Amino acid sequence: MKTRQSTQSLFSVPQQHLFRKDILAWYDRHQRDLPWRANRDPYRIWLSEIMLQQTRVAAVIEHYHEFLRRFPTIEDLAAAREASVLAAWSGLGYYRRARMLHSAAKVIVREHGGKFPMTEKQLQALPGIGRYTAAAIASIAFDEPVAVVDGNVERVLQRLAGRRLASVELWSAANHLLDKKRPGDFNQAMMELGAVQCNPRAPACLTCPVVELCSTRGELAVEAKAARQKQCEIHYALDVRDGEVWLVQRARDASLMAGMWELPEVASMNGVSRPVFTLRHSITVTDYTVRVWQNAVRSRTAGKWIPRGRLERVALTGLARKILRKAEVL
Ligand code: SF4
Repeated sequence: MKTRQSTQSLFSVPQQHLFRKDILAWYDRHQRDLPWRANRDPYRIWLSEIMLQQTRVAAVIEHYHEFLRRFPTIEDLAAAREASVLAAWSGLGYYRRARMLHSAAKVIVREHGGKFPMTEKQLQALPGIGRYTAAAIASIAFDEPVAVVDGNVERVLQRLAGRRLASVELWSAANHLLDKKRPGDFNQAMMELGAVQCNPRAPACLTCPVVELCSTRGELAVEAKAARQKQCEIHYALDVRDGEVWLVQRARDASLMAGMWELPEVASMNGVSRPVFTLRHSITVTDYTVRVWQNAVRSRTAGKWIPRGRLERVALTGLARKILRKAEVL
């Protein structure tokens, strides 16, 4: 069986030394001032890592502060009701992540006395913590010498190598390159390089700290034909009366956003009426054109009047929140 160390390193030993020196010096000078870098509290690092999965840094920062205000410690999170956790997560999407976070907090409090497991292996035994997140927490919070591979690191490694790398090669290359004395900083430096310098489009190679060691110095040819986004149109009814809004709850067993609240979805009324407004919303590979219609359907949907003052505490889907904000209901 192949192990993570079973493939060749990208570089010779002297080149590896040079790479570590250059990328760490660059990180020391240019790292972004992000709130979860203020200390090495594993709870905060874990929370940021889960929030950052498939969500932009700017959107995460706002939610990160609010989430910590509501649940300052892992004990607070473990003791919270699921509905409160989902409400605090509202706007970040991918609600399974919030449920897993909540489950893992309960396990840490119940089985580890509230103390975070310190190794990649132990961390991977927790709900919702895969290899990437376990390695990120173990290296950043506890200095364990294990490398991370996320989408940013993958792109950097492939461009350095000048070709596509299979998963086992990516983890192997990352572990060969890792600076064992500063594993947390090294991992963050690799992710930072991918996020701000080695961008998916138009990488800034001229100012890249490792340009001398890079085989590509630009986009890989195979990256150029990136997957095209699908386009979809979707319609919602907005009913507001006397300080209340009509919302429906998604099925408890729905595969996406189970149990969350949203506006009722309706058929298109194009040609019959005019939408109150239209907005754009993107989820992974789909760009939605969202049309919102007034008083379109209440009598035919099973839902509930929710007082506007309560909306902040309701677990709304990200799109429902966006619509209600645009309509100035929230
Ligand atoms: S030289 Fe360009 S392509 Fe290579 S790692 Fe740096 S930014 Fe990425």
